[in-house]
Amino acid sequence: MTDPDRVVDAVLAAVDDAYTVHLARRLVQTPSVYRPGDPAGTEAAAAELVARELRCLGLAVHVEEAAPGRPNVIADWGASEGGPLLILEGHTDVVTEGDPAAWSVPPFGGVIADGCLYGRGAADMKGGVAAAIGAVRALRDAGVRLPGRVRLAIVADEEGMMLGIKAFIRNGWARAASGAIVCEPEANTMCLVQKGALRAVARFAGRMAHGAMPKSGVNPIPAAAAFVERARALEARYLARHGAHPLLGEPSVTPTVILGGDPTQLNVVPAQAMVGLDVRTIPGQDHAEIRRDLAAASADAAAGAGARGELEVIEERPWTETPADAPIVDAVERACRRVQRRTPGRAGVPGATDGTFLRAWAGVPIVTIGPGDVTIPHRVDEFVRIAELVEACRIFAAAACYFLSGPA
Ligand SMILES: [Zn+2]
Repeated sequence: MTDPDRVVDAVLAAVDDAYTVHLARRLVQTPSVYRPGDPAGTEAAAAELVARELRCLGLAVHVEEAAPGRPNVIADWGASEGGPLLILEGHTDVVTEGDPAAWSVPPFGGVIADGCLYGRGAADMKGGVAAAIGAVRALRDAGVRLPGRVRLAIVADEEGMMLGIKAFIRNGWARAASGAIVCEPEANTMCLVQKGALRAVARFAGRMAHGAMPKSGVNPIPAAAAFVERARALEARYLARHGAHPLLGEPSVTPTVILGGDPTQLNVVPAQAMVGLDVRTIPGQDHAEIRRDLAAASADAAAGAGARGELEVIEERPWTETPADAPIVDAVERACRRVQRRTPGRAGVPGATDGTFLRAWAGVPIVTIGPGDVTIPHRVDEFVRIAELVEACRIFAAAACYFLSGPA
């Protein structure tokens, strides 16, 4: 077999930095904030740009809607059959720009200044999408032959309920994959672990009453308060048991919403109250046990106040941990050493990503790495450093070569 380092030489020589930067810029200039109720407020235009670009590269492109008007774009490069399948994953949606006046550049202008590309999505993650496409373009232009395939998965709705990657998996696109690179902004640092999450709502029902005769009703607000206290105790218990993860920090149970009563009716005992929780988990925690703990906490809190309580888990995203000996880890590590000329740093992903479901639902070993500072997404004046953007493209291209060539 050909020496993979030779193949990497050829592919890196074929990387076109100007192409990657230009594509990232055009993607930023194509707004893709999901705005429910606004027919133009979807990922469709950005997905269309991606699909057009991939067709220009001569790839067979599949466009599938994850939800009405919200397309996933999927395209393969490489051998038609056999060999490993590597997924390069990215999302087209971006979060809202907020108040444009708070920005020092137009949020969708694609301004390039001081070695950075500015705009909503520059880091999260149109830069990563452009770098992934640039990597496949370099593989194609280098004319190399490798066993297996690279599959670009450029999906919708990562910032929402992750409908895009869920549809991608449900439609069978992840089935044959033996590794995936999730191109999220991690400052080109390798991440093998990410936190899990549970979003839960506790609802408490009592009985309305006049504030002058509160005992004639049942007040659900003390139940909600007791639940918040129990949530705090659970957090302390999880922390005592699991400690802090070296890369992910501490597990948390955070009350994020509390509602009950009518702010204009201070003399009324309300009938309803609710508490919303954002639970974040680290490797080793058992989500089924957490569900049971939360259900018991809401039942106890309700019983103590004589109210009725119910707990609903709205969304569950397991933590992920990729084994250090997975071939995708080896491939990305070799690529980083080659491109960055140093042993790659390691970090953890604090939030869930599409990679959560690739790992949890489809069993695909994932490495999260891509251009852009970790703290930049979702802020005003979002940017990606051009040097990091083109470096990411090289890492993805080299990692694909190493992964498809097999272990050293
Ligand atoms: Zn993202």
